[in-house]
Amino acid sequence: MEKNLSSLVNHQFRLARRPVGLPDRSIWDYTQSSVPQPGEGEVLVKALYLSLDPAMRGWMSEAKSYLPPVEIGEVMRAGMAGRVVASRDPGFAVGDLVTGILGVQEYALARSDELTKVDPAIPLPVHLHALGVPGMTAYFGLLDIGQLKAGDRVVVSGAAGAVGTIAGQIAKIKGCRVIGIAGGEHKCKYLVEELGFDGAIDYKSEDVTSAIRSHYRKGINVYFDNVGGDILDAALINLAVGARVVLCGAISQYNSTNGVKGPANYLSLLVKRATMKGLLVFDYIPRYGEATKDIAGWMSEGKLKSKADIVEGLEAFPDALLKLFRGENLGKLMLKVAED
Ligand code: NAP
Repeated sequence: MEKNLSSLVNHQFRLARRPVGLPDRSIWDYTQSSVPQPGEGEVLVKALYLSLDPAMRGWMSEAKSYLPPVEIGEVMRAGMAGRVVASRDPGFAVGDLVTGILGVQEYALARSDELTKVDPAIPLPVHLHALGVPGMTAYFGLLDIGQLKAGDRVVVSGAAGAVGTIAGQIAKIKGCRVIGIAGGEHKCKYLVEELGFDGAIDYKSEDVTSAIRSHYRKGINVYFDNVGGDILDAALINLAVGARVVLCGAISQYNSTNGVKGPANYLSLLVKRATMKGLLVFDYIPRYGEATKDIAGWMSEGKLKSKADIVEGLEAFPDALLKLFRGENLGKLMLKVAED
């Protein structure tokens, strides 16, 4: 490792205690250590951007999930996009741009199987959004779980966020009609005017059940759910026969202190012979290539936009994360940790 690297400090956010309700500042320890040196087969990555995701709320909890919980005292788990600054793996050279789940810190050691090399010709934030996990989630959620077909009437909740903005645009590209549900006039305007959604419902000021009905008299064919709770119920009561409900997330429930609110209107699934199926994007890792090829193609043709919402500085992490739960982000929320 170069001399100047070993003299640098690595700052990290570690989980100090498990949150009850919102993950506020009190649950974090801001720590520092020296920058680690790569051993044989390891690579040292300097963080440029960190991905902030609603899933982080689940990883902080003790409950069993698709990944083990982050332990107390551990560096918080997060997606990172960064540059290789030292390498003892012949597959990676100093200067390579990579992504991986490398934690809320300035420098991280990784093995090759934890890293994906990314195309330096494409801006790095795009690799955390349209070409990253949110893009993969939207693509496989709609096309595989949702079995999307041209002409479908689609509704996307959390529509102005990282996954929702891509899901809505893919549905349009595939010849569907798309209504987005989001909080506030500004977001709804963005969906229609900038992203080409056919309409938007502001769940903070409109009755969602009747608003969906007024857009789709014949019901929803595909509902892509990012939020759960009352909005899921409003969609269920508006399903068409044979509808597919994609259970992607339920952010309205993640900080609940009195249990998860289940769907009261689930009998619509029976009446409408509909399906509701969960999605875990990591199941599709072997097929990410299909999605990145299509999404990169649509972007280069000007059919799909990737939007980053960037907060500056690692120290801003605790407050920046809360923006997700307060609806303060538009597009993909990320932290810019360092200049390249
Ligand atoms: P995001 O949509 O960029 O950010 C979260 C958004 O959720 C906020 O901007 C806010 O928008 C909305 N929100 C927050 N609290 C809400 C509430 N109580 N009711 C309704 N909406 C609320 O986040 P993302 O990264 O794209 O993730 C979206 C969903 O996908 C999350 O549920 C996440 O867990 C899930 N996800 C699942 C997978 C998978 O493999 N299944 C992978 C990635 C993400 P408004 O201003 O519109 O309220």
